[in-house]
Amino acid sequence: MTKRQHSIISTCIALAVAATLLFSGFAKALDPMGMCIKLNAYASYFGLQLADSSLILQLATAALALLEFTLGLNLLLGIRRRLTTATTLVFMVCMTCLTLWTFIADPVADCGCFGEALKLTNGQTLAKNIVLLAAASWLAWKPLALPRLLTERNQWIANTYAAAFLAALMAYTFHRLPLVDFTDFKTGRSMREALFNPESEESYTDLANLILCDAEGEMVQDSLLLEDGYTFLLTLPDEAEADEGCIDQVNDLFDYCTDHGIGFFGLIAQEEEENIADWIDRTGAEYSFLTSESTQIKAMVRSNPGLMLIKDGRIVAKWSHNDLPSVDTRHTADLEALSAAANDRMSLRKLLAWLCLPLLLLVVIQSIINLFSRHNLNKKHKKMRKKIVAGNWKMNKNLQEGVALATELNELLNADKPNCGVVICTPFIHLASVAGVINKDVIGLGAENCADKASGAYTGEVSAEMVKSTGADYVILGHSERRAYYGETAEILKEKVNLALANNLEVIFCIGEVLEEREAGKQNEVVRQQLEGSLYDLTAEQFAHVVLAYEPVWAIGTGKTATAEQAEEMHAFIRQTIAGKFGAEAAENCTILYGGSCKPSNAKELFSKPDVDGGLIGGASLKAADFKGIIDAWK
Ligand code: PEP
Repeated sequence: MTKRQHSIISTCIALAVAATLLFSGFAKALDPMGMCIKLNAYASYFGLQLADSSLILQLATAALALLEFTLGLNLLLGIRRRLTTATTLVFMVCMTCLTLWTFIADPVADCGCFGEALKLTNGQTLAKNIVLLAAASWLAWKPLALPRLLTERNQWIANTYAAAFLAALMAYTFHRLPLVDFTDFKTGRSMREALFNPESEESYTDLANLILCDAEGEMVQDSLLLEDGYTFLLTLPDEAEADEGCIDQVNDLFDYCTDHGIGFFGLIAQEEEENIADWIDRTGAEYSFLTSESTQIKAMVRSNPGLMLIKDGRIVAKWSHNDLPSVDTRHTADLEALSAAANDRMSLRKLLAWLCLPLLLLVVIQSIINLFSRHNLNKKHKKMRKKIVAGNWKMNKNLQEGVALATELNELLNADKPNCGVVICTPFIHLASVAGVINKDVIGLGAENCADKASGAYTGEVSAEMVKSTGADYVILGHSERRAYYGETAEILKEKVNLALANNLEVIFCIGEVLEEREAGKQNEVVRQQLEGSLYDLTAEQFAHVVLAYEPVWAIGTGKTATAEQAEEMHAFIRQTIAGKFGAEAAENCTILYGGSCKPSNAKELFSKPDVDGGLIGGASLKAADFKGIIDAWK
């Protein structure tokens, strides 16, 4: 599979997983009390006695909704891709185990993963989670295949906005009522129609199965719902925990109803019938009570107590105990106006617009900035960045041959001044002699290596200080041949880099992947680790003295050049990585050379790419004419 195909598949999978998580988190935030009730059902399975509105359940609901929503958003926008995909995988492993258990033990009828918005059986949920687990594993396998729509600098804006939005939504819906009612007892539905005409569109299970009993245990739902006019139901899903702060308003409303011949009933769960006396004691209630199934009362109004207004058997309004209507008992309250005010809530469309438009705007602005900066800033920065063609003689040429080559090159370049910085990196023994024959204003001099120790009993080694004393200003470090044949690890190279910089040498630091790593699509990861392993302890000031050379090992000395597109793709990635670590300015100023079978015939095309700032040249630097041909690619 090509990298592009992999990226397309990953993007599609990420979109599907993100959509599921966003929907799941958002549905919970729209009706958090519904989720608390669901979680409480699990808690009671384990013998835990909690109130539906207990703080612990509210916090668990909020945490779950926020986690799902944030993971979904981060997958969608490609934010912190490694962390996001790993967390999604861990989350899906936990969820799949949990749903496997619910499938086997059957503690609740539906697991509540999408709240009331979409009810799935435990079997359906398990199947869904197995698919999501497979998808999350795929994403975690190669997280960087996901497109990133926001730069690291702007990612926090999206996350903070979304989290604040969701938290505010949950605070509102906990305090008032769900902004979108997913229960069967939705405002506008006709309970009468559902009860007497079960085939009708209005027939929902909870509505059709509603049973209301009076104090004598007689079923009264038929007579109550057949009655024309208004009836209030004060729902008490949990009498002991019900808020008493609204009692004056409730009693005023009851007085008003008595004066105007409007029905008013308290509605309490059958299991709590004995608590009616307690409620009357606590509140001085004078209204009659009906009983029903507790699950239905919980669904009727997501509040404790809650208020429902029925007109001609149809639900016309609901209120939370925090938001009860005030009536002046001396005047006729316009119940229609009260209902209209209660139903005047933000529509789902408006809510989604408030959520999505700012995020969309952020992504659009970011894309425009990216486009703009890629086309213009890159050009500008490329112009400003130092362009270098550096030769790496490796272990070639004896002293006389080396001095002759340097002399020839010096003459050529003094006669025809280069448009870029030119550096020749020679074996140690050539340095002092070559320094004597070159014009340092035109050609810089560098070593191919230096020791990882400052000085002392290290037979055969040459220190950074010694290199500097020859007149050299550069040193190549981390070349793949030194990594492969001399066991130079990231740690050793870190020491060398530090010593070279401490001795005022400019470091040409080589990075690059081997063929197997490229074939496995791991090149970005390899290069990132090489940078991280040896350079991430530097300060931005120190890093300003480092030139990077991307040298795919499979292209060095093989005649097999990376295409200009492959080089640009990697150079852009390197610059992005550097920006993440040392900041955008350091990244824009960093010279990144390409190395690997670069010749006069391909140099121009490679150097034309926005992020390629020159070349590190091996074989072709051993002939003055070839090397000059590459240098002239900048003309
Ligand atoms: C090198 O070794 O740095 C190099 C780029 O070699 P060549 O140009 O010969 O591939």
